[in-house]
Amino acid sequence: MRPLAYARASAAEDAIALVAGDPASAFLAGGTTEVDLIRAGISRSARLVDINALPLDGVEGTADGGLRIGALARMNDVARTPIVAERFPAISRALLLGASEQLRNMASMGGNLRQRTRCAYLRDGVSPCNKREPGSGCAALDGFNRGHAILGTSEHCIATHPSDVAVALMAFDAVVETLGPDGARTIAFDDFFLVPGDAPEREHPLAHGELIVAIRVPPAPIARRSVYLKFRDRQSYEFALVSVAAAVEVVDGRVAEARLALGGVGTRPWRARRAEAALAGAPAGAEAFLRAARAELADAVPRRHNAFKVELAARAAVRGLTEALR
Ligand code: SF4
Repeated sequence: MRPLAYARASAAEDAIALVAGDPASAFLAGGTTEVDLIRAGISRSARLVDINALPLDGVEGTADGGLRIGALARMNDVARTPIVAERFPAISRALLLGASEQLRNMASMGGNLRQRTRCAYLRDGVSPCNKREPGSGCAALDGFNRGHAILGTSEHCIATHPSDVAVALMAFDAVVETLGPDGARTIAFDDFFLVPGDAPEREHPLAHGELIVAIRVPPAPIARRSVYLKFRDRQSYEFALVSVAAAVEVVDGRVAEARLALGGVGTRPWRARRAEAALAGAPAGAEAFLRAARAELADAVPRRHNAFKVELAARAAVRGLTEALR
């Protein structure tokens, strides 16, 4: 056992200064990610800076019809906030399908975005893993890769991003607000989650000591009838093999607007922009939905055990879009 220091911050600026000034420090919110990683020997944090006293747990509807979710809001609290369920049911549903009740009561929204992949080779602490030890290789490429990604992969890493709610947030163009040693900034979801490329150890563009303070979701009337579906090996306490966040607006039988994002198949929460483009103006129905899904998956790179995800993702997308249509 190695010693672990603990500090409690009462102001965001203090927390940021403490973490930014010490490479071995990390923020502690719900602890459902960081503490796990410390126990597994993956995180080398030697000091945790508890940020739970910071006033960052608000969840509110904005005047323009969007949402602003504080980074310390707990998953369950966000899911059960009426304005979230009313304006963005896919976000609420993704949160409720996201983990066990106990974890949802603990896990913060900021921590959810920063959680690391559940790739078993990263967490076993001994297998070659470019995320854990850059340059060591990727045991999943020729290993058991049934749960791994088929989109956004590289020869250096094929791990999926595990978050459910990030998939729904991605579908609705969420933005991350941060505060760091160099001040405040906003980062679009598209820029927040990095594909592995040749540097899979880098998962997001945050500087050390940069704190997520909130997630903003712009207004999206289409989202009021959005859905989130999750397909997995068992009905609870399991990560998605494929998940779908979908919303469709139809005018005169044709798709006027569609939102589609996929989970469980990408190295990051996967916005299906190619499918959305294919759907624009198409007759609203299963045939066009399947064509669009197949267009999105055309660049999929399946491996030995996860080829089934290509077809599963296509069918899941059709089902998600069909349910959103209803
Ligand atoms: Fe590590 Fe990524 Fe390979 Fe898993 S898929 S072993 S996380 S490099």
